[in-house]
Amino acid sequence: MLLYIHVPFCRSRCRYCAFHSEALGRSVDPYASVAVRDYVDTLLLELATFGDRLGGAHIQTVFFGGGTPSLLPPRIVGILLERVRRYFTLDDGAEITLEANPESLKGSLVPSQLLEAGVNRLSIGLQSLDPDMLHILGRSHKAQDSLHAVYTAREAGFANIGVDLMWGLPGQSVRHWLQTLKDVVRLAPEHISAYGLTLEPGTPLEKASRTEDLRLPPERDQNIMFLEGAAFLERHGYIQYEISNFARMGYQCRHNTGYWSGVDYLGLGPSATSTIAGKRWTNPSNRKAWEEKVKSGTDRSDEEEVITPLIRVLETIMLSLRTSRGLSFARYKAMTGHEFLTDHRRMVQAMHENGLVRIRNGYMRLTPNGMVVSNSILSNLFEQTKKILTDPLPELDPSATRDLATDVQEKGPVRKNTGAVRAFVFPKA
Ligand code: SF4
Repeated sequence: MLLYIHVPFCRSRCRYCAFHSEALGRSVDPYASVAVRDYVDTLLLELATFGDRLGGAHIQTVFFGGGTPSLLPPRIVGILLERVRRYFTLDDGAEITLEANPESLKGSLVPSQLLEAGVNRLSIGLQSLDPDMLHILGRSHKAQDSLHAVYTAREAGFANIGVDLMWGLPGQSVRHWLQTLKDVVRLAPEHISAYGLTLEPGTPLEKASRTEDLRLPPERDQNIMFLEGAAFLERHGYIQYEISNFARMGYQCRHNTGYWSGVDYLGLGPSATSTIAGKRWTNPSNRKAWEEKVKSGTDRSDEEEVITPLIRVLETIMLSLRTSRGLSFARYKAMTGHEFLTDHRRMVQAMHENGLVRIRNGYMRLTPNGMVVSNSILSNLFEQTKKILTDPLPELDPSATRDLATDVQEKGPVRKNTGAVRAFVFPKA
């Protein structure tokens, strides 16, 4: 099982962000914050409750996400991990990731304290190295902070550092994006996530885009940023193992690979989602409502969504096709009793002829051009799959969900429809 811990605090709110978090303010010391203290108390209770309910289940990975988990004092992170070990069975060599903002790491003892607390992977939210872009995004750090943060983390002894970047920013050119990648590659992180910016409805950036001159780059440029960016990273030793994720050999994020493989996950903290044994539920987003719920010990069975076999098949198609490994025909057959290539013959043929998919060794995966139009490929596959799978589906052999889960021994978010490379008409079934 994977464990996700949501930390719902940030220094300030970025202008593009639609995730759930509370702005603590620049001057508030998290050590002295009542909100942080109440949150931690409740989280400890939630950890104990689920440790008990799940019988001390095995945990393969822990991911502190947010929000800005690096705002948590490292001592608290250490206590949380100690409780995870106490209430669950944390695998030896478990990947333990913490998301960090550059300003909370640079030139400080925080990275070495986090390492000491048990964190072994840092995911640092750089987003851009350009001061103007950082300003537009409303980030609370400066470009220089990013360089210092990576340097400090490395000096402290972190051997597994990931950085998050965004492309398709207002005013960004292809040349500009490729320059950002060049600069980031010089920092030599083990992992790079690169997401296209989407203007989420209701965010300050989306509102500003309606009034200010904040135009996103044209769709054609965005497609080139995606394709050339991926090619650049591959040339520099970063394998594109998922549409938006690149890693040096052996440094794929095991936690997110677990999500994409259908491994069960427990989510703790406000707004966190869990999926365990075919059931899914989401905690209240509001911190106070979450605290009340955890303290009252309310049974959540009335809020659980049952993951039907059809939903499971659709999720498998969606998540597998985002990975470079692709969709396993054997897994599809184990889940449905059907042959994928028979069910989707005409569509697969058309996509193949248009260079959008590649089929090899019992897997179908998207080509780079296929990734650019992944949203429309997936929606067409979904439509057809729903029409075909009308009979009751077979009971799932648990091993069928594990073909990629083995890679976990080796995570959101779907964020971007990158738009069409060229017109492509999907054939009907
Ligand atoms: S730091 Fe992350 S979670 Fe917080 S507001 Fe910015 S993007 Fe959102």
